[in-house]
Amino acid sequence: MAFKGKVTIDREKCKGCGLCVEFCPRGTLELDKKINTQGYNPAVVTDQDNCNACGFCFLVCPDMVVEVEKIKEGSK
Ligand code: SF4
Ligand code: SF4
Repeated sequence: MAFKGKVTIDREKCKGCGLCVEFCPRGTLELDKKINTQGYNPAVVTDQDNCNACGFCFLVCPDMVVEVEKIKEGSK
C-alpha cells in the first residue's frame, strides 16, 4: 500500500538548521527565503504531493517541530 505524507512544520519554532532539507529523499523541503520571528529561515514544504511519508524529516529534527501524517494513497 502506497502512502502519501502531509508534513506540517511549525514555522515559528523552526531554527532553520536544514537537517530535514538535507535528509528528505524526495527533495520536498527547502529553507524559506523569508525569516520567522526568531530570525531563522524556516523549512517549508515545496511539494506536498511528492512526500511519501517516510518520516525522516520528523526523525532528524532536533527541535521536534515537524509532524508527518501518513495518508493512504487515493484517500483524502
Ligand atoms: S516525510 Fe520523508 S518525503 Fe516527506 S517531507 Fe519528510 S523526509 Fe521528505
Ligand atoms: S530539522 Fe527542524 S529545526 Fe531544522 S530546519 Fe528542519 S524543521 Fe527546522
